[in-house]
Amino acid sequence: MLNIVIFGAPGSGKGTQSENLIKKYNLAHISTGDVLRAEKASGTELGKLADSYMSKGQLIPDELMIDILASVFDQKIKAGDCKGVIFDGFPRTIPQGKALSEMLEKRNQSISAVVSLDVPEEELIERLINRGKQTGRNDDNYETIKARLDVYYNQTTPLKELFEKEGKLYSIEGVGTVDEIFGRISSVIDSVK
Ligand code: AMP
Repeated sequence: MLNIVIFGAPGSGKGTQSENLIKKYNLAHISTGDVLRAEKASGTELGKLADSYMSKGQLIPDELMIDILASVFDQKIKAGDCKGVIFDGFPRTIPQGKALSEMLEKRNQSISAVVSLDVPEEELIERLINRGKQTGRNDDNYETIKARLDVYYNQTTPLKELFEKEGKLYSIEGVGTVDEIFGRISSVIDSVK
């Protein structure tokens, strides 16, 4: 199984690139943000709880997120004949990173690669403001974007060191056309599969 973590700040292009990658490599897509937004849209208790964090740009508590991830992973694997999974938006903290490795280990699997999309902050903000105008996402406003970027720099970037030590981190330039960036990510995946 090919288990790829697509890693990067909000607005770095994880969702866009995941859409292309799942088609090319026949992967299932797990976007924890999409899972939470679907819960919110259905009006579930989990959705309401998640929104109280998401609307402020904060992270949902690790324990809850780790349980959700494991159950979504098992559902996706059962549902299809995919060749692996792309993790988009998970892990976002050191405990989540450790939990992901443990969850995969229990299923006799491992992380194949962590692809980090590196994009300068000014470009991230511009992309997110534009996305907010196009989609109406309520966390794509300037104040919440700033909070999300702070969370990313403080809580999520320490994961890079963890994956670097494990020899799993591949950092690529996340600036250019979608096709150019897709080409860079594909080269990494081709080298680990
Ligand atoms: P995203 O769509 O990946 O940008 O996620 C949107 C929001 O969902 C984040 O700002 C968090 O509030 C929440 N979220 C998504 N994934 C996670 C995660 N792995 N851990 C905690 N919160 C998350």
